[in-house]
Amino acid sequence: MKERLLQELKRIREAGNYREIKYLEPVAASRVVYNGRVYLNLCSNSYLSLHVHPEVVSAAKEAIERYGAGTCSSRSVSGSIDLYGAVEEEVASFKGYERALIFSNGYLANIGIVATLTDGDDVIFSDELNHSSIIDSARLSRAEKVIYRHLDVEDLEKKVKRVSGKRRKFVITETVFSMDGDVAPLKEIYALKEKYGVHVIVDEAHGTGVFGETGKGVEEMHGLSGCMDVQMGTFGKALGSFGAFALGESVTMEYLVNRARTFMYTTALPASVLAAGRAALRLVKESTSYKDELWVNIARMRQGLREMGFDLERSEGPIIPVLVGEDGKTVEMQRRLMDRGIFLQAIRPPTVPPGTSRLRLTVTRGLTSQEIDQALDAIGAAGREMGII
Ligand code: PMP
Repeated sequence: MKERLLQELKRIREAGNYREIKYLEPVAASRVVYNGRVYLNLCSNSYLSLHVHPEVVSAAKEAIERYGAGTCSSRSVSGSIDLYGAVEEEVASFKGYERALIFSNGYLANIGIVATLTDGDDVIFSDELNHSSIIDSARLSRAEKVIYRHLDVEDLEKKVKRVSGKRRKFVITETVFSMDGDVAPLKEIYALKEKYGVHVIVDEAHGTGVFGETGKGVEEMHGLSGCMDVQMGTFGKALGSFGAFALGESVTMEYLVNRARTFMYTTALPASVLAAGRAALRLVKESTSYKDELWVNIARMRQGLREMGFDLERSEGPIIPVLVGEDGKTVEMQRRLMDRGIFLQAIRPPTVPPGTSRLRLTVTRGLTSQEIDQALDAIGAAGREMGII
């Protein structure tokens, strides 16, 4: 086996696709320490910088004192700590759904939702750029899979129309695409629900806390809060913690409790993690100032990049793809940015389609305007050296 793995790793290296884990020292809101050097962090998904907010951190500490370090079993095996029920009620009421069910992370939630709610007679329609957890969830489902062109509702509708009216149809999409930062045309997709009776499952991992007037997500932005058949959202991005939730009608959640294998057969989140997520959710509910400050930073970064001639594609929010194309060139651009004190990642296949390697830049609330300008200077200089702008 070793021989084969070494060969394969060599091939990955030669293709400019090799990944290694970078170990960071304790992380501040917008800076990281790597190999003894301080970098500006331009790849965090903690969009609201709440992972270091004092109220979020102290909620986690209090919960550890009260409940201990871990839950040490699945919720179905040993009972569920009461905190789960309370957090589920708060999330459901914030998002406008009847009931929530917490999963240990978004990957498990997507697999639990999609693989459990669909069966062999059904058809899943999935955006071609959906997250790997959605792709894997469809693989685990017995349903037929149909891929539609990215954000293309016309293509989706054409494909929906081809399938017999009797079969159940599920459309699954991210609301904010994790590697492209563009936003799904939710209104048009929702119209297909009314027109053809399709079921809609959305992944608001990157929408929660960031989009919509009060940070509920892209659903809210389109006036569709609580309207989907199922929404998946996470505590692990703008909400600064870890874990995820499914939202929908009570009966759907009840079914997931009874049938979703990724809910039933894994250890429940520790109380500290849940309490941190709840504290962040409360901050978001109490004030839009976190979101508003983030959007001021987003506007500054996006304007600066545009003025330098970067094509920001269709991205709309804190996730900004800086498209390079070739894998090797993307890694070189990343290296040059690291030299200039900027920490961000080269995203290559299979995370994105071949030929579309990029730097995935994210904007967070904790960045100061000087730090954004410092980042813009560095990206501009590296982009010019590499002939990208
Ligand atoms: N969906 C999307 C769109 C994501 O970007 C991610 C995380 N990268 C997930 C689901 C998985 O969430 P988690 O990290 O909580 O497993």
